[in-house]
Amino acid sequence: VLGVVVLGIVSFVLLMFISAPYGKHLRPGWGPTINARVLWIIMEAPSPISFAVVYFMSDNAFKPVPLLLLGLYMLHYLYRSFIYPFRMTGGHKQEPIITGVLAFAFNCANGSTNAFAITELAPHLLSTSWFFDPRFLIGIVVFFAGYAINQHSDSILLSLRKPGETGYKIPYGGFYRFVSSPNYLGEIIEWIGFAFAAWTVPAWVFAWFTATNLVPRSFSNHRWYREHFSDYPKNRRAIIPFIL
Ligand code: NDP
Repeated sequence: VLGVVVLGIVSFVLLMFISAPYGKHLRPGWGPTINARVLWIIMEAPSPISFAVVYFMSDNAFKPVPLLLLGLYMLHYLYRSFIYPFRMTGGHKQEPIITGVLAFAFNCANGSTNAFAITELAPHLLSTSWFFDPRFLIGIVVFFAGYAINQHSDSILLSLRKPGETGYKIPYGGFYRFVSSPNYLGEIIEWIGFAFAAWTVPAWVFAWFTATNLVPRSFSNHRWYREHFSDYPKNRRAIIPFIL
């Protein structure tokens, strides 16, 4: 868990200066490449797999609160690992393997530590009274708000290209009215909600890492849109509506 905290600091500093070379920021010179769809599955699948393996090793695996948290985690990650890669409109691209290395390491650590904490290290999750705790109730609302923003924003992006098109367009609608990367905003909100609902150290570290990774990426995307589209909406921010 401490390793993920440090990884978050390192990736935040690096990503503020160097945009990760995939998607809009894809460029040569980053070593061997692989099909983007395949890379995505290889780097994301360790998250639900490691979570499930560690989770079901516990005697507490069938307690109601841990089961619900398992459900939230899997709702996001089964989609992200095994369905989203087949919806990506840039899935045919060749992308540098290096871009998946950090995500792979993070996902192995994150899935297993979160499952272990939820089932073995958090006595408050073993009683159904947690269902009535304000932290849990706030967390559930925040999680689903973030989930909805993330899904809706990704759907807008994925509908921009007609079959056969490969270029980029300005996304409009939903939270794109306010920020350039609402999909990232939704993802950060989602995992903050999960952290409230689980109230464990690994869950908060997960939210922290998501933010340290996606906030700098949103700055790169914002800059990229402004450089490539002279008619890009002037009042749109990078990641936090009206502020940042
Ligand atoms: P992007 O916004 O870079 O791209 C998403 C998809 O939309 C790609 O297929 C991309 O194609 C396409 N696309 C993006 N912008 C445009 C545009 N302007 N016009 C047309 N098509 C476009 O998202 P990411 O790949 O970075 O992330 C995807 C999801 O994964 C997000 O929901 C994000 O929150 C999540 N994620 C989570 C992370 C975490 O730390 N938890 C880390 C990274 C991502 P192309 O590939 O050609 O650019």
